[in-house]
Amino acid sequence: MFDNLSDKLELTFKKLAGQATINEVNIGIAMRDIKRALLSADVNYKVAKKLVEDIREKSLGEEVIKSVSPAQMIVKIVNDELAEIMGGENQPLNLPPKKMPAIVMVAGLQGSGKTTFCAKLAKRLKKNGKNPMLVAADVYRPAAIEQLKTLGEQIDVPVYSVEEQDAMKAALGGLEAAKNGAKDVLIVDTAGRLQIDEAMMAEAEALKNKLSPDELLFVVDSMMGQEAVNTAKAFNERLDFDGVVLTKLDGDSRGGAALSIRQVVEKPIKFMSVGEKVDDLDLFYPDRMAQRILGMGDIVSFVEKAQETLDLEKTMQMQSKLMKNEFDLEDFFDQLQQLKKMGSIQGLIEMVPGLNKMVPKQDLENINFKPIEAMISSMTKEERKSPEIINGSRRKRIALGSGTRVQEVNMLLKQFTEMKKMMRSVNRLTKSGRKITTEN
Ligand code: GDP
Repeated sequence: MFDNLSDKLELTFKKLAGQATINEVNIGIAMRDIKRALLSADVNYKVAKKLVEDIREKSLGEEVIKSVSPAQMIVKIVNDELAEIMGGENQPLNLPPKKMPAIVMVAGLQGSGKTTFCAKLAKRLKKNGKNPMLVAADVYRPAAIEQLKTLGEQIDVPVYSVEEQDAMKAALGGLEAAKNGAKDVLIVDTAGRLQIDEAMMAEAEALKNKLSPDELLFVVDSMMGQEAVNTAKAFNERLDFDGVVLTKLDGDSRGGAALSIRQVVEKPIKFMSVGEKVDDLDLFYPDRMAQRILGMGDIVSFVEKAQETLDLEKTMQMQSKLMKNEFDLEDFFDQLQQLKKMGSIQGLIEMVPGLNKMVPKQDLENINFKPIEAMISSMTKEERKSPEIINGSRRKRIALGSGTRVQEVNMLLKQFTEMKKMMRSVNRLTKSGRKITTEN
């Protein structure tokens, strides 16, 4: 899978391997190569452009970690951006647990792997303790109905079908049968055509309106590359589906569809199909997919470790500054970035012995980072080092520059002063030899 893209990216990283630093020049060259590699893997042009811009920005802004080479650092950045562009986290199916039945409607072009997917999903749900039923609403091709029935037998899941070429009748009949049979999930396989056409869209739309499915999934063949993205766009504009199923990822796919779809249609890829057998279905994990595309999982985890150590080093430095009362707004800003990474304000409190006892938790948790960051960013270096020089006119300028109000600047400075005061008393307490415990 994606061998082509992996090879090309690897070449780019090899070129960077001998370089001691990341700079505008070598990043420029690397980004040009990465963009080419993406485009030749049939990644949508806009997506490739955005991806490369993000990677460039992150690479130049990235702190140098001693133990990591620029090439390794960039591998990690590219990895993270690839995962991000594919949606970050896996998005599971969203089926209401008590609904009898919850409805999954499946749409896509003929040959995309729709019918096979319906059976695969039924098998997966059954394995997870569900009691599914399949509906053959692809009524125009007798072969499709037969195929679903055969698959149904194979996985021991009932298949509802009708004689007439009436998709609505099949779907509503299936719904009734599922209710009577106490089925908890109904999977409706709809008709596809070789190309997008009005009749197919109108029928799918009518089914959607009537059934109000809990999940409307769009199935697409990843081997179609750019065309997969265009088809997804057309289906989404008409059906506003909930998620995407990428099929045939076991084939010689260039990766373009996986990388572009999420960004272009803004819908998550939920499943990936990796073969013809009923078990060849996996949840789609963007981070794992990114590692597969890059094929450099070991470098990625190495850099992650180094980053963790860096955080620890910074934390220790910060703690020492806090204890010496040398903490300024610049450090505060840095700390905010760290905290955001850690996802909790608790970190700041826990760094200082005794502080976790003195600060009411909820006050800190209510802090909105964005304006604070904007305000600190609008200050000069000098102001960050010595906040006491920030007089009235400086406050006005900072408020203007950060899109906040002077009162907010006042508040930030007041809070910062109070924090420093608090630090002083903590320090005094520590120095006077009183024991402060750090446990919660
Ligand atoms: P539908 O017309 O959309 O219902 O497509 P089908 O489910 O009939 O699939 C069309 C063909 O693609 C069949 O021969 C399937 O076996 C095959 N197929 C479906 N999914 C995959 C997959 O993930 N990998 C591979 N290699 N073949 C698949």
